[in-house]
Amino acid sequence: MSTEWEAVIGLEVHAHLKTKTKMFCRCALEYGAGENTHTCPVCLAHPGALPVPNALAIEHTIKLGLALGCEISPHAIFARKNYFYPDLPKGYQISQYEQPLCGRGALTVPTPDGEDVVGITRAHLEEDAAKTVHAGGATGRSVGADYSLVDFNRGGTPLLEIVSEPDIRSADEADRFLRLLRQTIVELGVSDAEMEKGTMRADVNVSVRKRGETGFRPRWELKNMNSFTFIRRGIDAAVREQVAAYERGETLEQSTYDYDPDTDRLTVHRSKEEADDYRYFPEPDLVPVEPPAELVERLRAELGELPGSRIRRIEAEVGYELAYELVATGNEPKAVALVEHGVDWRAAANVAMNQPDFLLENAGALAKILQANVTRDALNAAFVAAGTGSIDVDEYLGQTAVSDESALEPAIDAVLAANPQQVETYRGGKEGVLGFLVGQVMKETGGKADPKVVNRLLREKLQA
Ligand SMILES: [Zn+2]
Repeated sequence: MSTEWEAVIGLEVHAHLKTKTKMFCRCALEYGAGENTHTCPVCLAHPGALPVPNALAIEHTIKLGLALGCEISPHAIFARKNYFYPDLPKGYQISQYEQPLCGRGALTVPTPDGEDVVGITRAHLEEDAAKTVHAGGATGRSVGADYSLVDFNRGGTPLLEIVSEPDIRSADEADRFLRLLRQTIVELGVSDAEMEKGTMRADVNVSVRKRGETGFRPRWELKNMNSFTFIRRGIDAAVREQVAAYERGETLEQSTYDYDPDTDRLTVHRSKEEADDYRYFPEPDLVPVEPPAELVERLRAELGELPGSRIRRIEAEVGYELAYELVATGNEPKAVALVEHGVDWRAAANVAMNQPDFLLENAGALAKILQANVTRDALNAAFVAAGTGSIDVDEYLGQTAVSDESALEPAIDAVLAANPQQVETYRGGKEGVLGFLVGQVMKETGGKADPKVVNRLLREKLQA
C-alpha cells in the first residue's frame, strides 16, 4: 500500500458463552451431539413458549465487560431483531439494541513500541441461530447445493458480541487485538473461544482513507471470519483492492464481502441497497436486566491481573515478542512454574513455548534438571519421561554437560583439523558455518558437550 493511504478497521467479535444450557431454555449445549437432539418448544419457537434468561450467561457478559472497562448498564433491555431465515424459527433473534449490558470501554494492547488503545463500543448478549448445512450437489456451498438441512442444536446458544471502535490501523494491529481479546475471554472462563470449533468468529469492517483525512469512507464488511490467518489476509486484500479502486478514480459503496482464502480475493455478498432493516423493538416476553451492585462488585473482584498487563510485566524479562506469544498462547503458567523453581525467565519461556502442558505437573523436577546444565540428550529424555508422568530427577542430574574447557579442547582441535575447508570459509567472513562446526563437536563428544561453551571456544580458536 502506498504510504499515502491508511486502513481503518473495526471488529465485531462473537463468542459462544460457556454455559451448560441455552440462553432462553434448559436445552443442554453439547458440542458434537447428534443433529436436533437438544431442542424444545422454546428454541423451536412453538406458539406460546416463553423464554427465561440464563443467569450465568448474564454474569459472563458482565465479567467480560468489566475486564474491558465497560460501563455496566443498570437497566439493560433485550430486543427483537427481526429477519427471516430458515435457521431462525421465531422469525426474530433476541438480542440487545439500545441498552446493551456493557457500554463503552477499551482494550489496551501492548505493542513493541508502546500500546494500541482500541475503544470498545459495546458488548451485548444475544442468542445464536441454528446451523444450516447445504447438502447434495456441490456439498458445503450454498451455490449449487441441491437442498439444505437445519440443525437446531445450536439455535439459542448464548452469544456474546463485542463491537470495537474503528481504531485499528493494520492487519498486524487487528491480529494483536483479537488474540489478546481471545485470551482475555478464555481466562475469564466465559467462553472457549475456539475459532476452529466455531465458538468464536469475527466480522471485520475495513475501509481506507488518505492520511490526514478525518472522516470515514464506505466500509467493506468481511462476514464470519473464523481464522486469525484469514482475517489478516482478508484485511490486506480489502485494503489492496480499495486503494487500487480509489487510485483508478472509482467510488466505492458500503458492501458485505466474502473472503476466499484459495484465491485471496473478495467477492460481494450483498450491497448496501439490500441492507436489512431489522425493525428492532423491546422483547415483550422478557423484563429488563438490572444487575445488582453486589453482583457487579463480586465479578469485578474475580478478574485478577489481566493478560495485557502481564505481557508488559513479562516483557521486562524476555522482551516483547516472547512475552506476547507466551501470554496470548496460554503457555505462560508453565514458564511461571519453572521460574518459581529457580529457572531464569528466558530459558523458562523458551521451554514453555515448546513443551506440552504436562510440564506443569513436573515443573519442580524439570526445573532442577534445567538448572543442572545436563546434556541435551538427558534433557530430551527428561521431557519424554515427564510426559509419562513419572520422572526420577537423580537419573538425569548425573548427566551434566561437559563445560570444562580443557576437556573439550581435544575434540575441538580434532574437528578444526578435519574440516580445513569450513575453517577457511568462516575466516573468509561466512560465520554461518559455525553451526556446522558446533554440530561436529557435539557429535565428537557423544552429545555431552555444553553447546554454549563449544560455541565460545570455537569462535576464539577461529579468530586466532
Ligand atoms: Zn430449547
